[in-house]
Amino acid sequence: MQALVQEKWNKRPLIISGPCSAETEQQVIETATRLAHTGQVDVLRAGIWKPRTKPGMFEGIGTKGLPWLLQAKRITGLPTTVEVATAKHVEDALQFEVDILWIGARTTVNPFSVQEVADALRGVDIPVLIKNPINADLELWSGSIERIQKAGIRQVGMIHRGFSNYGNTEFRNAPMWHLPIEMKRRFPDMLLICDPSHICGNRHMLQSIAQKSIDLDFDGIMVESHIDPDNAWSDAKQQITPEQLADMLSALIWRSENTDKADFLTALATLREQINHIDDELMTLLGQRMKIADRIGQYKKDNNITILQTNRWNEILEKAYSKGEKLGLSQEFVTKYFDAVHLESINRQNRVMNS
Ligand code: PEP
Ligand code: MN
Repeated sequence: MQALVQEKWNKRPLIISGPCSAETEQQVIETATRLAHTGQVDVLRAGIWKPRTKPGMFEGIGTKGLPWLLQAKRITGLPTTVEVATAKHVEDALQFEVDILWIGARTTVNPFSVQEVADALRGVDIPVLIKNPINADLELWSGSIERIQKAGIRQVGMIHRGFSNYGNTEFRNAPMWHLPIEMKRRFPDMLLICDPSHICGNRHMLQSIAQKSIDLDFDGIMVESHIDPDNAWSDAKQQITPEQLADMLSALIWRSENTDKADFLTALATLREQINHIDDELMTLLGQRMKIADRIGQYKKDNNITILQTNRWNEILEKAYSKGEKLGLSQEFVTKYFDAVHLESINRQNRVMNS
């Protein structure tokens, strides 16, 4: 692999930007030039083949757009990345010296397609980024990573682009942050970047989602940028101009996972000690609570009474909500916590009753 691509791959934060789709030669060159001019972009992206939900939409300019990207690279010095979904895409992208490949969300869901791409990559030295599948299935995401690694690709990275959901939410694709966090636990040394564009589906939330990913220690971001966003041939609502991107990047606060500042570390250690102590107490109390539930189960059994008494449960929840509100605990959290405790309690009583 070229030294420049290697250098970009290792750079933190890694910033990838470019249009959702390559549309015309002029659009690709001008976007690339203006992005390079910001001095903050590391890699140029552009969709050449576009997997669209419905037929009749713009399905990408195709192989014809690859020379434009190569030209953009020659002018700006920016390495390039495109989405590939078939062996032919891989072959064409390699022929036009694309530097990094990415596998899209609609491809990650399909093991046949991922395997086809993996087979086409055997013996090739190129970094590959893998987007999460559109549905919230971490095994599919991990499986795709493994398929690409098994083909001999050493540089594999992950892109979090959110997960599809039924019905309207504020996001185009819900971020479900706990899922990329779990992937980070599974693949601790693997590059993980966030794609706020496809999570938001709009412009106004890009900044806050990008910031959130930074705060969660992601390694970089991929953001769609277009010279004339309103008239983009795909994903018009979520694209921003290169200059808007520059403003957004400048406003982001990059944090580091670690520091060696002594007073910060001491303060942090003290607070963590307090948290450990409280967690320990919570566990002890939960253990005691469940023992009482066992005894209640025994009484119910002796008196032939059902485990669940709806009134009692409503009463507990009402109390918890009003107390939670005073303590600054959200209703969502209180509900989740009590649901988990209640379920465990019912399981325990069930065991006692049927023993
Ligand atoms: C894209 O990056 O333009 C794209 C098609 O993204 P995704 O695969 O995340 O939908
Ligand atoms: Mn897009």
